[in-house]
Amino acid sequence: MSEYQHVLVAVDFSAETECVVKRALALAAMQKAKVSFIHVVEYTGYLYPPDTPLPLEVDLEQQFVDKAVDNLKSLAESHGLPDAARYVEVGSPMQEIVNVAHAQSVDLIVIGSHGRHGLQRILGSTASGVLHLSTCDVLAVRVGACKT
Ligand code: AMP
Repeated sequence: MSEYQHVLVAVDFSAETECVVKRALALAAMQKAKVSFIHVVEYTGYLYPPDTPLPLEVDLEQQFVDKAVDNLKSLAESHGLPDAARYVEVGSPMQEIVNVAHAQSVDLIVIGSHGRHGLQRILGSTASGVLHLSTCDVLAVRVGACKT
């Protein structure tokens, strides 16, 4: 039996996404593992006092979700995986990635070492948070060294 059966790829649609996805799919193919994708729309509502009316923001958030659903579908199709499960969540990326991994019995999360938050840290904030919170294995793809 393969070491991994279900690989979850965390996608932020940054320039590094292709690199992370290619590594994840190569590994999943070797393991004959199922592949799922996740993108988390970062929730900004908590920045405001609870009684602030936010109709425009809520609408904006839904637009981000709709766009992410489309983009994730295109990404999966462009890699020959039109039927792969795709998760679009709203909230904290590290927390939602770990929640979905747990709920979907994922045994390997593949994530970029860095993404939209840049190279300020040795390990990006999301990758480091997922590594700390996750109960399954995590592969942080060193995006700087990636050959796409
Ligand atoms: P960062 O912490 O922004 O440097 O991102 C590191 C990696 O975390 C990225 O390469 C993605 O794999 C993942 N990631 C960051 N933000 C998100 C997000 N909103 N949804 C899904 N994955 C994300």
